[in-house]
Amino acid sequence: MRYTELREGFSWEKVLKTFDWDVHEKFNMGHECCDRWADDPNRIAVYWEDEAGNTDVWTYKRLKEQSNRMANALRSLGVQKGDRVAGLLGKDMELIITVLAAWKIGAVYVPMFTAFGPEAIRYRLEDAGCKVLVTNQEQAQKIADLNISSTIILSDGLTEEGLTFWEFIQSFSNNHETEATNVMDPCVFQYTSGSTGMPKGAVWAHKILISSYPYVRYAIGVEDDDLFFGGADLGWAFGLINCTFVPLSYGNQILAYKGPFSVEKTYYLLEKYKITNFAYAPTVYRMMMSAGSEMIKKYNLQVKKFSSAGEPLNAEVVRFFKDNFGRAIYDHYGSTETGMIVDNFNVTDMAVKPGSMGLPCPGFNVAIVDEDGNPVEKGEIGQIAVDTTAYPVFFLGYWKNPEKTEEKIRGKWFLSGDLASEDEEGYFWFQGRADDIISSAGYRIGPFEVESSLIEHPAVAEAAVIGNPDETKGEIVKAFVVLNKSYEPSDELAKELSLFVKSKLSKHQYPREVEFIESLPKTPSGKIQRYLLKPNQYAAKN
Ligand code: ATP
Ligand code: MG
Repeated sequence: MRYTELREGFSWEKVLKTFDWDVHEKFNMGHECCDRWADDPNRIAVYWEDEAGNTDVWTYKRLKEQSNRMANALRSLGVQKGDRVAGLLGKDMELIITVLAAWKIGAVYVPMFTAFGPEAIRYRLEDAGCKVLVTNQEQAQKIADLNISSTIILSDGLTEEGLTFWEFIQSFSNNHETEATNVMDPCVFQYTSGSTGMPKGAVWAHKILISSYPYVRYAIGVEDDDLFFGGADLGWAFGLINCTFVPLSYGNQILAYKGPFSVEKTYYLLEKYKITNFAYAPTVYRMMMSAGSEMIKKYNLQVKKFSSAGEPLNAEVVRFFKDNFGRAIYDHYGSTETGMIVDNFNVTDMAVKPGSMGLPCPGFNVAIVDEDGNPVEKGEIGQIAVDTTAYPVFFLGYWKNPEKTEEKIRGKWFLSGDLASEDEEGYFWFQGRADDIISSAGYRIGPFEVESSLIEHPAVAEAAVIGNPDETKGEIVKAFVVLNKSYEPSDELAKELSLFVKSKLSKHQYPREVEFIESLPKTPSGKIQRYLLKPNQYAAKN
Protein backbone atom coordinates (compact mmCIF):
# COMPACT_ATOMS: atom_id res chain seq x y z
CA MET A 1 0.00 0.00 0.00
CA ARG A 2 1.12 3.55 -0.68
CA TYR A 3 1.57 5.92 2.26
CA THR A 4 -0.54 8.61 0.58
CA GLU A 5 -3.42 6.16 0.12
CA LEU A 6 -3.16 5.13 3.74
CA ARG A 7 -3.22 8.70 4.94
CA GLU A 8 -5.98 9.90 2.67
CA GLY A 9 -8.16 6.85 3.21
CA PHE A 10 -7.89 7.10 6.97
CA SER A 11 -10.85 8.07 9.15
CA TRP A 12 -11.31 7.91 12.90
CA GLU A 13 -14.93 6.90 12.42
CA LYS A 14 -13.71 3.73 10.71
CA VAL A 15 -11.30 3.06 13.58
CA LEU A 16 -14.05 3.55 16.16
CA LYS A 17 -16.08 0.83 14.43
CA THR A 18 -13.30 -1.71 15.02
CA PHE A 19 -14.00 -1.66 18.77
CA ASP A 20 -16.55 -3.81 20.50
CA TRP A 21 -18.41 -1.25 22.55
CA ASP A 22 -20.02 1.78 20.98
CA VAL A 23 -17.24 4.25 21.68
CA HIS A 24 -19.59 7.23 21.59
CA GLU A 25 -21.32 5.86 24.68
CA LYS A 26 -18.71 4.06 26.74
CA PHE A 27 -15.22 2.72 26.37
CA ASN A 28 -13.02 0.60 28.62
CA MET A 29 -9.56 -0.70 27.77
CA GLY A 30 -9.99 -3.75 29.99
CA HIS A 31 -12.95 -4.85 27.91
CA GLU A 32 -11.43 -4.08 24.52
CA CYS A 33 -8.03 -5.68 25.26
CA CYS A 34 -9.38 -8.86 26.77
CA ASP A 35 -13.07 -9.69 27.29
CA ARG A 36 -14.22 -9.07 23.75
CA TRP A 37 -12.03 -11.96 22.54
CA ALA A 38 -12.75 -14.36 25.41
CA ASP A 39 -15.79 -16.20 23.98
CA ASP A 40 -13.55 -18.47 21.94
CA PRO A 41 -11.99 -20.69 24.65
CA ASN A 42 -8.99 -21.55 22.47
CA ARG A 43 -7.97 -18.10 21.36
CA ILE A 44 -4.39 -17.54 22.55
CA ALA A 45 -3.40 -14.13 23.87
CA VAL A 46 0.02 -14.50 25.48
CA TYR A 47 2.90 -16.94 25.22
CA TRP A 48 4.90 -16.41 28.38
CA GLU A 49 8.47 -17.46 29.12
CA ASP A 50 11.00 -16.52 31.79
CA GLU A 51 14.77 -16.53 31.97
CA ALA A 52 14.91 -20.03 33.44
CA GLY A 53 12.86 -21.39 30.53
CA ASN A 54 9.54 -21.82 32.40
CA THR A 55 6.66 -21.34 29.98
CA ASP A 56 2.92 -20.79 30.05
CA VAL A 57 0.21 -20.12 27.50
CA TRP A 58 -2.69 -17.78 28.25
CA THR A 59 -5.95 -17.71 26.34
CA TYR A 60 -8.14 -14.62 26.33
CA LYS A 61 -10.68 -16.62 28.30
CA ARG A 62 -8.17 -17.28 31.07
CA LEU A 63 -7.11 -13.63 31.06
CA LYS A 64 -10.74 -12.61 31.40
CA GLU A 65 -11.48 -14.92 34.30
CA GLN A 66 -8.36 -14.07 36.28
CA SER A 67 -8.63 -10.33 35.69
CA ASN A 68 -12.28 -10.49 36.79
CA ARG A 69 -11.19 -12.19 40.01
CA MET A 70 -8.49 -9.56 40.52
CA ALA A 71 -11.02 -6.79 39.82
CA ASN A 72 -13.23 -8.18 42.58
CA ALA A 73 -10.18 -8.52 44.84
CA LEU A 74 -9.25 -4.88 44.28
CA ARG A 75 -12.81 -3.81 45.02
CA SER A 76 -12.68 -5.79 48.26
CA LEU A 77 -9.60 -3.76 49.21
CA GLY A 78 -11.64 -0.60 48.79
CA VAL A 79 -10.28 0.45 45.38
CA GLN A 80 -12.85 2.55 43.54
CA LYS A 81 -13.23 4.21 40.18
CA GLY A 82 -10.50 6.85 39.77
CA ASP A 83 -8.27 5.38 42.52
CA ARG A 84 -4.69 4.50 41.61
CA VAL A 85 -3.20 1.00 41.47
CA ALA A 86 0.53 0.60 40.91
CA GLY A 87 2.42 -2.35 39.46
CA LEU A 88 6.11 -3.04 40.06
CA LEU A 89 6.98 -6.36 38.43
CA GLY A 90 8.77 -7.63 35.37
CA LYS A 91 6.78 -9.22 32.53
CA ASP A 92 4.76 -11.31 34.94
CA MET A 93 1.25 -12.49 34.20
CA GLU A 94 0.27 -11.15 37.64
CA LEU A 95 1.12 -7.72 36.26
CA ILE A 96 -0.91 -8.06 33.07
CA ILE A 97 -3.84 -9.30 35.17
CA THR A 98 -3.47 -6.35 37.54
CA VAL A 99 -3.52 -3.78 34.73
CA LEU A 100 -6.64 -5.30 33.15
CA ALA A 101 -8.33 -5.53 36.56
CA ALA A 102 -7.56 -1.91 37.41
CA TRP A 103 -9.10 -0.75 34.13
CA LYS A 104 -12.13 -2.99 34.53
CA ILE A 105 -13.07 -1.26 37.79
CA GLY A 106 -12.37 2.17 36.29
CA ALA A 107 -9.23 2.64 38.40
CA VAL A 108 -6.03 4.24 37.13
CA TYR A 109 -2.96 2.09 36.58
CA VAL A 110 0.48 3.47 37.57
CA PRO A 111 3.36 1.64 35.87
CA MET A 112 6.71 1.26 37.61
CA PHE A 113 9.98 -0.27 36.58
CA THR A 114 11.89 -2.98 38.46
CA ALA A 115 15.23 -1.21 38.03
CA PHE A 116 13.94 1.73 40.09
CA GLY A 117 15.64 2.49 43.38
CA PRO A 118 13.68 3.10 46.62
CA GLU A 119 13.33 6.85 46.06
CA ALA A 120 12.04 6.49 42.52
CA ILE A 121 9.40 4.04 43.75
CA ARG A 122 8.39 6.16 46.74
CA TYR A 123 8.19 9.31 44.60
CA ARG A 124 5.71 7.74 42.18
CA LEU A 125 3.66 5.95 44.85
CA GLU A 126 3.24 9.14 46.82
CA ASP A 127 2.92 11.58 43.95
CA ALA A 128 0.17 9.45 42.39
CA GLY A 129 -1.35 8.51 45.78
CA CYS A 130 -1.54 4.79 45.04
CA LYS A 131 -3.97 2.75 47.13
CA VAL A 132 -2.52 -0.61 46.11
CA LEU A 133 0.89 -1.74 44.93
CA VAL A 134 1.32 -5.14 43.28
CA THR A 135 4.95 -6.24 43.47
CA ASN A 136 7.22 -9.07 44.64
CA GLN A 137 9.37 -9.70 47.70
CA GLU A 138 12.60 -8.53 46.12
CA GLN A 139 11.06 -5.19 45.14
CA ALA A 140 9.16 -4.79 48.41
CA GLN A 141 12.48 -5.11 50.27
CA LYS A 142 13.61 -1.88 48.63
CA ILE A 143 10.82 0.10 50.24
CA ALA A 144 10.47 -1.85 53.48
CA ASP A 145 11.78 1.06 55.60
CA LEU A 146 9.95 3.84 53.84
CA ASN A 147 6.60 3.82 55.55
CA ILE A 148 4.57 3.32 52.39
CA SER A 149 0.84 3.73 52.89
CA SER A 150 -0.29 1.64 49.87
CA THR A 151 -1.62 -1.86 50.48
CA ILE A 152 0.98 -4.25 49.10
CA ILE A 153 0.09 -7.46 47.26
CA LEU A 154 3.01 -9.78 46.54
CA SER A 155 3.14 -12.00 43.47
CA ASP A 156 5.51 -14.41 45.25
CA GLY A 157 4.57 -14.01 48.90
CA LEU A 158 1.61 -14.65 51.16
CA THR A 159 -1.28 -12.47 52.29
CA GLU A 160 -2.08 -12.08 55.99
CA GLU A 161 -4.35 -15.11 55.60
CA GLY A 162 -1.41 -17.12 54.23
CA LEU A 163 -2.54 -17.16 50.59
CA THR A 164 -0.41 -16.89 47.44
CA PHE A 165 -1.37 -14.30 44.80
CA TRP A 166 -3.31 -16.83 42.72
CA GLU A 167 -4.99 -18.38 45.77
CA PHE A 168 -5.92 -14.93 47.00
CA ILE A 169 -7.66 -13.94 43.80
CA GLN A 170 -9.12 -17.44 43.44
CA SER A 171 -11.24 -16.70 46.50
CA PHE A 172 -13.11 -14.04 44.45
CA SER A 173 -15.71 -14.62 41.79
CA ASN A 174 -14.72 -14.73 38.12
CA ASN A 175 -17.84 -12.73 37.32
CA HIS A 176 -17.39 -9.03 37.20
CA GLU A 177 -19.14 -6.27 35.33
CA THR A 178 -16.64 -3.96 33.67
CA GLU A 179 -17.14 -0.30 34.53
CA ALA A 180 -18.72 1.68 31.68
CA THR A 181 -16.01 4.33 31.59
CA ASN A 182 -15.95 7.22 29.17
CA VAL A 183 -13.18 7.54 26.53
CA MET A 184 -11.82 10.58 28.37
CA ASP A 185 -11.74 8.99 31.83
CA PRO A 186 -8.17 8.53 33.10
CA CYS A 187 -6.67 5.05 32.74
CA VAL A 188 -2.94 5.48 33.43
CA PHE A 189 -0.52 7.89 35.07
CA GLN A 190 2.58 7.27 32.98
CA TYR A 191 5.70 8.90 34.37
CA THR A 192 8.00 10.10 31.58
CA SER A 193 11.44 8.56 31.17
CA GLY A 194 13.36 11.33 32.92
CA SER A 195 15.79 11.94 30.05
CA THR A 196 15.84 15.66 30.79
CA GLY A 197 15.18 15.82 34.52
CA MET A 198 12.56 14.78 37.04
CA PRO A 199 9.93 12.45 35.50
CA LYS A 200 6.48 13.98 35.00
CA GLY A 201 3.26 12.06 35.61
CA ALA A 202 1.37 12.16 32.31
CA VAL A 203 -2.33 11.39 32.73
CA TRP A 204 -3.80 9.32 29.90
CA ALA A 205 -7.41 8.75 29.00
CA HIS A 206 -8.82 5.36 27.90
CA LYS A 207 -8.83 6.94 24.46
CA ILE A 208 -5.12 6.14 24.14
CA LEU A 209 -6.12 2.70 22.89
CA ILE A 210 -8.04 4.28 20.03
CA SER A 211 -5.35 6.85 19.28
CA SER A 212 -2.67 4.16 19.11
CA TYR A 213 -4.62 2.14 16.53
CA PRO A 214 -3.08 3.66 13.38
CA TYR A 215 0.40 3.52 14.86
CA VAL A 216 0.34 -0.15 15.83
CA ARG A 217 -1.65 -1.29 12.78
CA TYR A 218 0.35 0.58 10.14
CA ALA A 219 3.74 1.55 11.56
CA ILE A 220 4.56 -1.50 13.70
CA GLY A 221 2.20 -3.15 11.26
CA VAL A 222 0.66 -5.77 13.55
CA GLU A 223 -1.55 -7.82 11.23
CA ASP A 224 -4.01 -10.54 12.18
CA ASP A 225 -1.68 -13.47 11.50
CA ASP A 226 1.38 -11.89 13.15
CA LEU A 227 2.98 -13.38 16.23
CA PHE A 228 4.27 -10.22 17.83
CA PHE A 229 7.14 -9.74 20.25
CA GLY A 230 7.60 -6.25 21.67
CA GLY A 231 10.48 -6.47 24.08
CA ALA A 232 10.01 -3.17 25.90
CA ASP A 233 9.13 -3.30 29.60
CA LEU A 234 5.60 -2.61 30.82
CA GLY A 235 6.97 0.22 32.95
CA TRP A 236 7.03 2.53 29.92
CA ALA A 237 4.54 3.92 27.45
CA PHE A 238 5.90 1.90 24.55
CA GLY A 239 6.03 -1.43 26.40
CA LEU A 240 2.71 -1.05 28.17
CA ILE A 241 0.54 0.28 25.40
CA ASN A 242 2.08 -0.41 22.01
CA CYS A 243 3.92 -3.66 22.76
CA THR A 244 1.21 -5.25 24.91
CA PHE A 245 -2.33 -3.92 25.16
CA VAL A 246 -2.87 -2.52 21.67
CA PRO A 247 -1.96 -5.84 19.98
CA LEU A 248 -4.21 -7.62 22.51
CA SER A 249 -7.05 -5.27 21.60
CA TYR A 250 -6.83 -6.70 18.05
CA GLY A 251 -7.12 -10.24 19.46
CA ASN A 252 -3.51 -10.99 18.43
CA GLN A 253 -1.01 -13.38 19.96
CA ILE A 254 1.99 -11.86 21.68
CA LEU A 255 5.12 -13.14 23.38
CA ALA A 256 5.90 -11.86 26.88
CA TYR A 257 9.44 -12.66 27.94
CA LYS A 258 10.39 -12.04 31.57
CA GLY A 259 14.14 -11.73 31.86
CA PRO A 260 17.06 -9.46 31.15
CA PHE A 261 17.86 -8.63 27.56
CA SER A 262 20.62 -10.54 25.80
CA VAL A 263 21.25 -10.75 22.09
CA GLU A 264 21.46 -14.57 22.03
CA LYS A 265 18.32 -14.98 24.11
CA THR A 266 16.47 -12.66 21.76
CA TYR A 267 17.46 -14.64 18.66
CA TYR A 268 16.54 -17.84 20.50
CA LEU A 269 13.05 -16.52 21.29
CA LEU A 270 12.51 -15.15 17.79
CA GLU A 271 13.31 -18.58 16.38
CA LYS A 272 11.43 -20.66 18.97
CA TYR A 273 8.14 -18.75 18.73
CA LYS A 274 8.45 -18.08 14.99
CA ILE A 275 8.02 -14.40 15.68
CA THR A 276 7.00 -12.47 12.57
CA ASN A 277 6.90 -8.96 14.00
CA PHE A 278 9.47 -7.55 16.43
CA ALA A 279 9.72 -4.20 18.22
CA TYR A 280 12.31 -2.90 20.64
CA ALA A 281 14.47 0.11 21.44
CA PRO A 282 17.54 1.51 19.64
CA THR A 283 19.88 0.55 22.48
CA VAL A 284 18.93 -3.09 21.90
CA TYR A 285 19.33 -2.85 18.13
CA ARG A 286 22.77 -1.30 18.63
CA MET A 287 23.72 -4.30 20.80
CA MET A 288 22.44 -6.69 18.14
CA MET A 289 24.61 -4.91 15.60
CA SER A 290 27.66 -4.96 17.90
CA ALA A 291 27.25 -8.74 18.35
CA GLY A 292 27.88 -9.06 14.60
CA SER A 293 26.52 -11.00 11.62
CA GLU A 294 27.88 -14.43 12.48
CA MET A 295 25.49 -14.98 15.38
CA ILE A 296 22.44 -14.35 13.21
CA LYS A 297 23.39 -17.19 10.87
CA LYS A 298 22.92 -19.73 13.68
CA TYR A 299 19.19 -19.07 13.83
CA ASN A 300 16.28 -19.67 11.53
CA LEU A 301 14.36 -16.42 11.81
CA GLN A 302 10.99 -15.51 10.31
CA VAL A 303 10.76 -11.86 11.33
CA LYS A 304 9.19 -9.79 8.56
CA LYS A 305 8.95 -6.44 10.34
CA PHE A 306 11.27 -4.64 12.74
CA SER A 307 10.29 -1.52 14.67
CA SER A 308 12.23 0.83 16.90
CA ALA A 309 11.09 3.70 19.10
CA GLY A 310 12.10 5.82 22.04
CA GLU A 311 15.36 7.32 20.83
CA PRO A 312 16.82 8.24 17.47
CA LEU A 313 17.88 5.22 15.45
CA ASN A 314 21.28 5.58 13.84
CA ALA A 315 21.45 5.04 10.07
CA GLU A 316 24.28 2.53 10.52
CA VAL A 317 22.00 0.23 12.52
CA VAL A 318 19.24 0.44 9.91
CA ARG A 319 21.71 -0.55 7.22
CA PHE A 320 23.07 -3.44 9.29
CA PHE A 321 19.57 -4.91 9.50
CA LYS A 322 18.93 -4.34 5.82
CA ASP A 323 22.15 -6.19 4.97
CA ASN A 324 21.70 -9.04 7.43
CA PHE A 325 17.94 -9.59 7.61
CA GLY A 326 16.94 -8.21 4.23
CA ARG A 327 14.69 -5.74 6.02
CA ALA A 328 15.37 -2.27 7.43
CA ILE A 329 14.36 -1.37 10.96
CA TYR A 330 11.41 1.02 10.83
CA ASP A 331 12.01 3.95 13.17
CA HIS A 332 9.10 5.50 15.07
CA TYR A 333 8.97 8.75 16.95
CA GLY A 334 6.73 9.84 19.76
CA SER A 335 6.49 10.61 23.43
CA THR A 336 4.47 9.79 26.51
CA GLU A 337 2.37 12.91 25.96
CA THR A 338 1.79 12.81 22.19
CA GLY A 339 1.70 9.17 21.15
CA MET A 340 3.74 7.88 18.21
CA ILE A 341 3.19 10.69 15.75
CA VAL A 342 5.94 10.35 13.13
CA ASP A 343 6.71 6.91 11.76
CA ASN A 344 7.99 4.64 9.07
CA PHE A 345 5.07 2.42 8.12
CA ASN A 346 5.76 -1.29 7.88
CA VAL A 347 2.53 -1.98 5.96
CA THR A 348 3.32 0.47 3.17
CA ASP A 349 5.84 0.39 0.35
CA MET A 350 7.33 3.73 1.46
CA ALA A 351 11.08 4.08 1.10
CA VAL A 352 12.90 4.00 4.44
CA LYS A 353 15.53 6.71 4.56
CA PRO A 354 18.07 5.55 7.15
CA GLY A 355 18.35 8.22 9.85
CA SER A 356 14.87 9.65 9.25
CA MET A 357 11.97 8.94 11.59
CA GLY A 358 9.56 8.96 8.68
CA LEU A 359 6.20 10.59 7.98
CA PRO A 360 3.27 11.85 10.07
CA CYS A 361 0.93 9.20 11.42
CA PRO A 362 -2.50 9.05 9.73
CA GLY A 363 -5.14 10.73 11.89
CA PHE A 364 -2.72 13.12 13.59
CA ASN A 365 -2.02 16.70 12.61
CA VAL A 366 1.73 17.11 13.09
CA ALA A 367 3.82 20.17 12.26
CA ILE A 368 7.23 21.68 12.82
CA VAL A 369 6.78 25.04 14.50
CA ASP A 370 8.85 27.92 15.88
CA GLU A 371 8.90 29.11 19.50
CA ASP A 372 5.62 31.01 18.98
CA GLY A 373 3.84 28.05 17.46
CA ASN A 374 4.03 29.15 13.80
CA PRO A 375 4.85 26.42 11.28
CA VAL A 376 8.35 26.86 9.79
CA GLU A 377 9.32 26.55 6.11
CA LYS A 378 10.26 23.12 4.76
CA GLY A 379 13.93 22.39 5.52
CA GLU A 380 14.05 24.69 8.52
CA ILE A 381 14.50 23.43 12.04
CA GLY A 382 11.73 23.81 14.58
CA GLN A 383 9.92 21.88 17.28
CA ILE A 384 7.77 18.91 16.47
CA ALA A 385 4.25 19.77 17.57
CA VAL A 386 0.91 18.04 17.55
CA ASP A 387 -2.51 19.63 17.13
CA THR A 388 -4.41 19.55 20.43
CA THR A 389 -7.73 20.24 18.70
CA ALA A 390 -7.59 17.06 16.59
CA TYR A 391 -9.47 13.88 17.54
CA PRO A 392 -6.72 11.61 18.90
CA VAL A 393 -5.62 13.70 21.90
CA PHE A 394 -5.59 11.44 24.97
CA PHE A 395 -3.17 13.38 27.21
CA LEU A 396 -5.07 14.98 30.07
CA GLY A 397 -2.10 16.97 31.42
CA TYR A 398 0.62 16.34 33.98
CA TRP A 399 -0.67 15.10 37.32
CA LYS A 400 -0.86 17.93 39.86
CA ASN A 401 1.19 20.14 37.55
CA PRO A 402 -1.00 22.39 35.39
CA GLU A 403 1.81 24.97 34.98
CA LYS A 404 4.08 22.39 33.37
CA THR A 405 1.23 21.34 31.08
CA GLU A 406 0.55 24.95 30.16
CA GLU A 407 4.25 25.56 29.32
CA LYS A 408 4.02 23.02 26.50
CA ILE A 409 1.04 24.62 24.75
CA ARG A 410 1.39 27.28 22.03
CA GLY A 411 -1.98 28.14 20.53
CA LYS A 412 -3.40 24.88 19.29
CA TRP A 413 -0.04 23.10 19.38
CA PHE A 414 1.49 20.86 22.01
CA LEU A 415 5.27 21.27 21.81
CA SER A 416 7.26 18.06 22.04
CA GLY A 417 10.56 19.68 23.05
CA ASP A 418 12.21 17.90 20.09
CA LEU A 419 13.77 19.63 17.11
CA ALA A 420 13.45 18.33 13.59
CA SER A 421 13.28 19.42 9.99
CA GLU A 422 11.14 18.16 7.12
CA ASP A 423 12.59 17.34 3.69
CA GLU A 424 11.01 17.90 0.27
CA GLU A 425 9.21 14.54 0.44
CA GLY A 426 7.79 15.24 3.88
CA TYR A 427 10.19 13.00 5.82
CA PHE A 428 11.10 14.20 9.30
CA TRP A 429 14.75 14.34 10.41
CA PHE A 430 15.46 14.43 14.12
CA GLN A 431 17.96 17.07 15.25
CA GLY A 432 17.92 16.54 18.99
CA ARG A 433 16.02 17.60 22.06
CA ALA A 434 15.78 21.36 22.31
CA ASP A 435 17.73 21.12 25.60
CA ASP A 436 20.53 19.09 24.02
CA ILE A 437 21.22 21.39 21.09
CA ILE A 438 24.78 22.69 21.03
CA SER A 439 25.41 26.29 20.15
CA SER A 440 28.94 26.72 18.80
CA ALA A 441 30.33 29.81 17.05
CA GLY A 442 26.85 30.80 15.92
CA TYR A 443 25.95 27.32 14.67
CA ARG A 444 23.26 25.14 16.17
CA ILE A 445 24.42 21.56 16.22
CA GLY A 446 22.24 18.55 16.94
CA PRO A 447 24.07 15.82 18.88
CA PHE A 448 22.40 12.96 17.03
CA GLU A 449 24.05 13.51 13.65
CA VAL A 450 27.49 13.65 15.27
CA GLU A 451 26.78 10.52 17.34
CA SER A 452 25.57 8.66 14.26
CA SER A 453 28.69 9.60 12.39
CA LEU A 454 30.88 8.39 15.26
CA ILE A 455 29.26 4.96 15.43
CA GLU A 456 30.06 4.41 11.79
CA HIS A 457 33.68 4.09 12.91
CA PRO A 458 34.47 0.41 13.66
CA ALA A 459 35.91 1.22 17.10
CA VAL A 460 32.74 2.89 18.38
CA ALA A 461 29.88 1.00 20.07
CA GLU A 462 27.97 4.04 21.36
CA ALA A 463 28.46 7.76 21.66
CA ALA A 464 26.86 10.76 23.35
CA VAL A 465 27.62 14.28 22.26
CA ILE A 466 27.21 17.44 24.34
CA GLY A 467 28.29 21.09 24.30
CA ASN A 468 31.19 21.99 26.57
CA PRO A 469 31.39 25.67 27.61
CA ASP A 470 34.05 27.55 25.66
CA GLU A 471 35.11 31.18 26.02
CA THR A 472 35.39 32.02 22.35
CA LYS A 473 32.85 29.71 20.73
CA GLY A 474 30.21 29.62 23.43
CA GLU A 475 30.25 25.84 23.35
CA ILE A 476 32.42 23.24 21.68
CA VAL A 477 31.32 19.80 20.61
CA LYS A 478 32.45 17.09 23.00
CA ALA A 479 31.92 13.36 22.46
CA PHE A 480 31.75 10.64 25.07
CA VAL A 481 32.59 7.35 23.40
CA VAL A 482 32.10 3.73 24.45
CA LEU A 483 34.47 1.50 22.48
CA ASN A 484 33.77 -1.89 20.97
CA LYS A 485 35.38 -4.76 22.85
CA SER A 486 38.63 -5.14 20.87
CA TYR A 487 39.60 -1.44 21.08
CA GLU A 488 41.61 0.42 23.74
CA PRO A 489 41.33 4.14 24.52
CA SER A 490 44.29 6.26 23.39
CA ASP A 491 45.02 9.85 22.40
CA GLU A 492 45.62 8.68 18.83
CA LEU A 493 42.23 7.03 18.67
CA ALA A 494 40.58 10.16 20.09
CA LYS A 495 42.24 12.21 17.37
CA GLU A 496 41.30 9.67 14.72
CA LEU A 497 37.63 9.81 15.75
CA SER A 498 37.65 13.60 15.64
CA LEU A 499 39.07 13.56 12.13
CA PHE A 500 36.71 10.79 11.10
CA VAL A 501 33.67 12.96 11.87
CA LYS A 502 35.35 16.02 10.37
CA SER A 503 35.80 14.14 7.09
CA LYS A 504 32.13 13.07 7.03
CA LEU A 505 30.21 16.05 8.38
CA SER A 506 30.92 19.76 8.17
CA LYS A 507 33.82 21.47 9.90
CA HIS A 508 31.83 23.04 12.73
CA GLN A 509 30.25 19.72 13.74
CA TYR A 510 33.21 17.52 14.58
CA PRO A 511 34.04 16.84 18.25
CA ARG A 512 37.06 18.83 19.37
CA GLU A 513 37.18 16.75 22.51
CA VAL A 514 36.70 13.00 22.75
CA GLU A 515 36.50 11.27 26.10
CA PHE A 516 36.34 7.50 26.45
CA ILE A 517 33.85 6.18 28.95
CA GLU A 518 32.91 2.68 30.12
CA SER A 519 29.20 3.17 29.62
CA LEU A 520 26.80 6.04 28.97
CA PRO A 521 24.40 7.32 31.63
CA LYS A 522 20.95 6.06 30.67
CA THR A 523 17.41 6.15 31.99
CA PRO A 524 16.21 2.81 33.36
CA SER A 525 14.55 2.29 29.98
CA GLY A 526 17.89 2.65 28.21
CA LYS A 527 17.79 6.21 26.90
CA ILE A 528 20.94 8.30 26.89
CA GLN A 529 20.84 11.07 29.52
CA ARG A 530 23.05 13.70 27.91
CA TYR A 531 22.22 16.21 30.62
CA LEU A 532 24.20 14.11 33.10
CA LEU A 533 27.30 14.41 30.93
CA LYS A 534 27.24 18.20 30.89
CA PRO A 535 29.87 19.84 33.12
CA ASN A 536 27.45 21.62 35.49
CA GLN A 537 25.87 18.25 36.17
CA TYR A 538 29.25 16.84 37.13
CA ALA A 539 29.59 19.63 39.61
CA ALA A 540 26.10 19.02 40.92
CA LYS A 541 26.68 15.29 41.29
CA ASN A 542 30.15 15.34 42.91
P1 ATP B 1 11.45 13.31 30.06
O1 ATP B 1 10.29 13.92 29.38
O2 ATP B 1 11.17 12.89 31.45
O3 ATP B 1 12.72 14.07 29.93
P2 ATP B 1 11.55 11.47 27.84
O4 ATP B 1 11.18 12.64 27.01
O5 ATP B 1 12.70 10.63 27.37
O6 ATP B 1 11.80 11.91 29.36
P3 ATP B 1 9.47 9.74 26.94
O7 ATP B 1 8.15 10.36 26.82
O8 ATP B 1 9.57 8.31 27.32
O9 ATP B 1 10.30 10.52 28.01
O10 ATP B 1 10.27 9.87 25.59
C1 ATP B 1 9.91 10.73 24.56
C2 ATP B 1 11.14 11.35 23.94
O11 ATP B 1 12.01 10.35 23.41
C3 ATP B 1 10.83 12.23 22.77
O12 ATP B 1 10.45 13.51 23.19
C4 ATP B 1 12.15 12.22 22.01
O13 ATP B 1 13.09 13.12 22.56
C5 ATP B 1 12.66 10.81 22.24
N1 ATP B 1 12.30 9.92 21.11
C6 ATP B 1 11.37 8.97 21.09
N2 ATP B 1 11.37 8.31 19.90
C7 ATP B 1 12.32 8.88 19.15
C8 ATP B 1 12.80 8.66 17.81
N3 ATP B 1 12.34 7.70 17.04
N4 ATP B 1 13.77 9.48 17.36
C9 ATP B 1 14.26 10.46 18.15
N5 ATP B 1 13.86 10.69 19.40
C10 ATP B 1 12.91 9.92 19.91
MG1 MG C 1 9.82 14.20 27.40
